Amino acid sequence: MFDLIIAGGTVIDGTGKPGFRADVGVNGKTISAVGDLTGVPARRVIDAAGLTISPGFIDTHVHTDAALLTEPQHPSGIRMGVTTEILGQDGLSYAPLSPENYAEYSRYMSGLCGTPPPDLDMSTITAFRSHYHGKCAVNTVALIPHSAVRIESAGFHDVPLRGKTLDKAKGLVREGMQQGAAGFAIGLGFFPSAWADTKELIEIAKVVGEEGGVFVGQHRFFHFERAFGGGGSPEFLEVGRRSGAKVHLAHYFPRQFGAGGAGPAAAGIEIGSTVESFVKDIDEAKAEGVDITLDAYPYPSGSTMPACRLPGWAVEGGVDEIIRRLTDKKERARIMAYLNERHGDSLGDHVFTYVASGKNRWMEGMAWPDVARERGESVAEMICNVMAEEDLNCGLLVSPPKSTRLWRQTEAGVMELLKRPDYTVGSDAIPVGGMCHPRAFGAFPRVLGRLRRRHGARLEDLIYHMTQLPAERFGLKRRGVVKKGAYADLAVFDADRIDDLATYEDPKVHPEGIPFVTVNGQVAVDQYRCTGVLAGEAVP
Ligand SMILES: [Zn+2]
Repeated sequence: MFDLIIAGGTVIDGTGKPGFRADVGVNGKTISAVGDLTGVPARRVIDAAGLTISPGFIDTHVHTDAALLTEPQHPSGIRMGVTTEILGQDGLSYAPLSPENYAEYSRYMSGLCGTPPPDLDMSTITAFRSHYHGKCAVNTVALIPHSAVRIESAGFHDVPLRGKTLDKAKGLVREGMQQGAAGFAIGLGFFPSAWADTKELIEIAKVVGEEGGVFVGQHRFFHFERAFGGGGSPEFLEVGRRSGAKVHLAHYFPRQFGAGGAGPAAAGIEIGSTVESFVKDIDEAKAEGVDITLDAYPYPSGSTMPACRLPGWAVEGGVDEIIRRLTDKKERARIMAYLNERHGDSLGDHVFTYVASGKNRWMEGMAWPDVARERGESVAEMICNVMAEEDLNCGLLVSPPKSTRLWRQTEAGVMELLKRPDYTVGSDAIPVGGMCHPRAFGAFPRVLGRLRRRHGARLEDLIYHMTQLPAERFGLKRRGVVKKGAYADLAVFDADRIDDLATYEDPKVHPEGIPFVTVNGQVAVDQYRCTGVLAGEAVP
């Protein structure tokens, strides 16, 4: 007797080996049989004839730390077949933070993560994990966010971590690792993290390495002079080389488009570079023994918060100071001059995804020049004023390129990278606001559907990069495979029909072709409907 049998599907087990016809039997949280279960009784049978049964997908890069707390059903992720999400990305998360710092930092990050419930205990990684365990639809993995560690150690200030402040930071990282984090994350496109120099990163990474974790990061957009090798991949490779920690470089792929002046070009990545030249230094470092993996998402432009377009001197001191500068005539003029100089015309490529207040919500989905015109302001003036009016609580995406050929080049690059042994898929989902980036609703089915077909990729290989590879990398035991004894995190989909339907102009549309998803043996998506079951656990 089984609790659940998913019958008659093609099992693609996550290891990369060819799919095979089998039934999958589930008891409790785990898979208890894979094979011919004809005639075996079960409390529920899902007919998977003509469908593929694979491990649920592991999203190695998401920004759902707040969204999972406010909308735990998490339809955007679970409907894509994602059953595990790795939080804390780019160092943007909530623990370990004191109550005061949690309130302050939530406010700073609201344009990217949305607003988490106030008054949660975020003082430790243990407390953080408890807010998700058994309380949301997907499994969650915690990474210790550099920003939180830095705020607790030295405040929201442009100071290097050295001596006592560095010791404090290292202590918090060690404690977090011992409380079940899978690693540590930093985003060098965001303050306070971008105030760090490479030396600080190496010292912290040594602790991460000693504790067996992964040092996850986004390459640098600010203070290139503080970085080994001028930032970009060389800085991360040096961290791996000098610390011995496993390194994972986030959303690292050649975008053919400048992404608003703060994209790859600003990070020292040559636009239009081939995949081969793009990963040349990665392969050289690997040959020396640096242990590195990476991730990518299949879209040509990104999404973030306007506050991360501001330079360090404008955000020094935290949110009240930022708002004061944005509203002070002289300081605002200085910020506007910086925005025009650093980002220039590319500010015109920005679109509001999300604006918190009712009075400004009409801006969602509008390009910044149109909003500015409507308000009778310059673009730089408008964005300063809107950030101040919204208390930073607004988000942006960068318009995709007008030439489809450029889209296709980015997509071809991502599919090429997914043939390598070291690439996973990270959606970079920010499911916040009325006009969010479509990657939150489409990244996984986009790769498995239209891009797989267009590029003739092998389904088993792509599944491996979305399941067993990330599970092994982040130490998620008994996840990412379909076999007896593994947790029953499963995606059941129609390989011929699976596709993303979310677009930049209509982003909040669920994909097609994924009728069933289970998490820890519980049916989370049933005939394309979210069931309300919140069976996700804090793992590993
Ligand atoms: Zn990100």
